[in-house]
Amino acid sequence: MLRAHAGTIKLIIEGFRKYNRVKLGLDWLQILEECKNNVKKQIAPLLKTLNQFESDLGVGAGGDPIKQVDLAAEKAITETLLEKGLSFTFISEESGIKSYGAKPQQHYITADPIDGSTNLTRGIPFYATSIAVSKKPELRTVHTALVADLFHDVTYTAVKGEGAKRNNQEIKPSKQTDLAEAVIGVDLNTYKAREIVPHITNLIEQTKHIRHLGANALELCYVADGTIDAFIDIRGKLRATDTAAAWLIIKEAEATITTLEGKPLNAKLDPREKLTFVASANRRIHNIILNLLKA
Ligand SMILES: [Mg+2]
Repeated sequence: MLRAHAGTIKLIIEGFRKYNRVKLGLDWLQILEECKNNVKKQIAPLLKTLNQFESDLGVGAGGDPIKQVDLAAEKAITETLLEKGLSFTFISEESGIKSYGAKPQQHYITADPIDGSTNLTRGIPFYATSIAVSKKPELRTVHTALVADLFHDVTYTAVKGEGAKRNNQEIKPSKQTDLAEAVIGVDLNTYKAREIVPHITNLIEQTKHIRHLGANALELCYVADGTIDAFIDIRGKLRATDTAAAWLIIKEAEATITTLEGKPLNAKLDPREKLTFVASANRRIHNIILNLLKA
């Protein structure tokens, strides 16, 4: 009885939130879902032809196949937005900053059309599309976000003040505080590995489960829903465009994301802007990790 009652209340709250979003003029969550569906549709035929390139990777017969998928995904997003008659500034890894419509300052759309392109081309089933909406070209103004695992059809979303969801179910990070048992993602893909590695040696020595799955936006969502316990990128190489959507998902799930110094993360939304961060399931493990990285 009590459960049924809670279910009704939840439905009423959901309905009210949706009404509010629509009343504001645009249901961005719905629009981002449509963008994702169009990305899936547009890249599907390319995924089939990619298999033919597999033996010839990187040689570029018929153009760079990785680039083709990235560009098709980007086009799928902008076309969906244009079909809605929207004016917006599009900030993306692929084509920089572009204005669309009469009032491009109305909305800022920051996207990494395909996060994990190398995984996609090599057949590693871990890649995503990442889209964030903001009022200004600034990370902390992002109000709606979507990161979709395109292979497994799992979609993470967040609306500012409304929490984060995975396939429409509310998510929370893990309560893990035992570093030895924690699963921790670390991106070490950099030519400057010699500079980075000394900072993380202490951490690696105290953990048993270090991972890097190759699509950073999705790995941040894994922190948000408790699949992993932390994700660290201190290379100074990750673009703000790749992190914008996952940043809101982390915040709304009430996980923690800060700079190495423990400060709140903020950045200009610009593909040339690079971020360094530690994201963790909870404050306690976050502080343990920050201290080890500093040592
Ligand atoms: Mg990309």
